Amino acid sequence: MQRINDFFKHNASNKIAIIGIPYDVNSSFMRGPAGAPPFIRKALFSDASNLWTEKGVDLSADDVMLDMGDLTFNQTDDPMTIIETSLTRLLDDKFLPIALGGDHAITYPLIRGFRNKYNKLSLLQFDAHPDLYHELQDNRYSHASTFARIMEDKLVDRLIQVGVRTMNGHQRSQAEKFGVEVVDMLNWRDDIQLAFDSPVYISFDMDVLDPAYAPGVSHREPGGLSPRQLISLIHSLKGPVIGADIVEYNPKNDLSEITSMVSAKILKEIAAQVLLTRAPSP
Ligand code: MN
Ligand code: MN
Repeated sequence: MQRINDFFKHNASNKIAIIGIPYDVNSSFMRGPAGAPPFIRKALFSDASNLWTEKGVDLSADDVMLDMGDLTFNQTDDPMTIIETSLTRLLDDKFLPIALGGDHAITYPLIRGFRNKYNKLSLLQFDAHPDLYHELQDNRYSHASTFARIMEDKLVDRLIQVGVRTMNGHQRSQAEKFGVEVVDMLNWRDDIQLAFDSPVYISFDMDVLDPAYAPGVSHREPGGLSPRQLISLIHSLKGPVIGADIVEYNPKNDLSEITSMVSAKILKEIAAQVLLTRAPSP
């Protein structure tokens, strides 16, 4: 186990950078995810658990993971530009970024930043929702439109959505138009295997979980997955994971901080997958 961590030591380009993005103005139904990052950090560093992952990576070891704090937004600069430039700076410094939302709208500027570095890029979205609306409530940058923008701009070569259970007619035609691969709950199987021959970015919307496990989301959608099913799928991914975001945790809807603990657990297991499958820096 220790050898895994020795391998990462003394190599700055292997470090995970945790960055909080407290931004939720593009939420269509209720605000709250902007308050998520401190709760996820509190759960991550809580003495109730430890920082070893199931695959044996010690995230508390020197030089494995750095917490960069939260982005700050000002009155003058476009928030989406702030997100993209901050992410780009992390990639320039050879970090492996994991962003904590915020709502799902933050994934668009994040993927723009990644696309500038990776000319081959796959996107694995865990979500109860496809988020493929051409626009919602007159907002093209709604958290429900993120993946329509990403696909229109051709920011990824492949989009795979896992856990979808709210597909409607409009979004189904969008999915077909953009060639999205949808693994919906209707056809869920526990032995699903996902393989990527190019770098893959994970966008994890907390509402992919069944609300019984993760009530702290704005859009509770029954019939979802368990933490165990999702963690096992993450562990079984084939291909280099180069970054991630964990979004849509809404502390205002949580019960006894259950969902912050689940968010931190998902964060740990994704971080281990990033470190263990690490692609060469672009
Ligand atoms: Mn979403
Ligand atoms: Mn969702």
